[in-house]
Amino acid sequence: MFSLVIHGGAGTITRAAMSPEKELAYKQALDQALQVGENILREGGTALDAVEKVAISLEDCELFNAGRGSVFTAEGKHEMDACIMRGDNLEAGAVAGISNVKNPVQLARAIMEKSEHVFLTGQGALEFAKINGIAMEPDAYFYSAFRYEQWQEAKADGKIQLDHTEKKFGTIGAVALDQYGNLAASTSTGGMTNKRWGRVGDSPMVGAGTYANNRSAAISCTGHGEFFIRGVVAYDVACLIEYQGLRLQEACEKVILDKMVKLGGEGGLVGVDSQGNTAMVFNSEGMYRGMVTHNTKRTVLIYSDSN
Ligand code: ASP
Repeated sequence: MFSLVIHGGAGTITRAAMSPEKELAYKQALDQALQVGENILREGGTALDAVEKVAISLEDCELFNAGRGSVFTAEGKHEMDACIMRGDNLEAGAVAGISNVKNPVQLARAIMEKSEHVFLTGQGALEFAKINGIAMEPDAYFYSAFRYEQWQEAKADGKIQLDHTEKKFGTIGAVALDQYGNLAASTSTGGMTNKRWGRVGDSPMVGAGTYANNRSAAISCTGHGEFFIRGVVAYDVACLIEYQGLRLQEACEKVILDKMVKLGGEGGLVGVDSQGNTAMVFNSEGMYRGMVTHNTKRTVLIYSDSN
């Protein structure tokens, strides 16, 4: 038995603003990432490997605001955040404010497995990456005309934007349950367009944007990070399951459709619990998302009406 759920960001994603070609490109990228994870899990691989490799597949796709497709900061750079966590022993690795790392989630995993620490940032994290042979790329790898224009618009408006001009959060994430009953979660992001002052969102923070615990669930969030940090969203869902006995779907709805709405935080999350139940809950117009289990086919969805 296994389950895998992924997201590629939530926000104002409407049919009106989407061309058929763009929609197809997003769906194909999500399906490809799901397939990577499905193969690992079907062949008896671990949830940890699945959420790492799925995240790498999405980081390598320039459609999403993570890895290659990361947004521009106010200084015209790309500063990425990522986190990975395993549910069996609560080990976690996280990184924030790093540039030129091809796959930040891989660095997060190396921090978890090869350092005594959980969270490294900036220059120090890059030194650790180099020592551990993590792949680096030049600035040009992270450049796309679309992101550059988006940054120019944000600068002209003097705004710090969440991914696209219309509110859209392009962060990526994955949660999985493997055949051994273990959960894992990963999240990776370029953060906000035109961000400065070393701004860090919820994605790399254990308990805010990412969490995994075999006693409850694995959760990966996307949305307006400041609110997700304040709501300690991923851990809140896990707590409602562990301490209050809520089912996964109920816990996700309580946090995203009730508590986050009251707080004013737009976004969503994907989750899987230790029984393999899955959830994809968001309070925005859409969320790029998909899932597959041992006995259900890969499904990819974008809008709120199951399409
Ligand atoms: N949560 C991310 C952040 O605030 C943004 C996103 O989900 O796209 O950095």
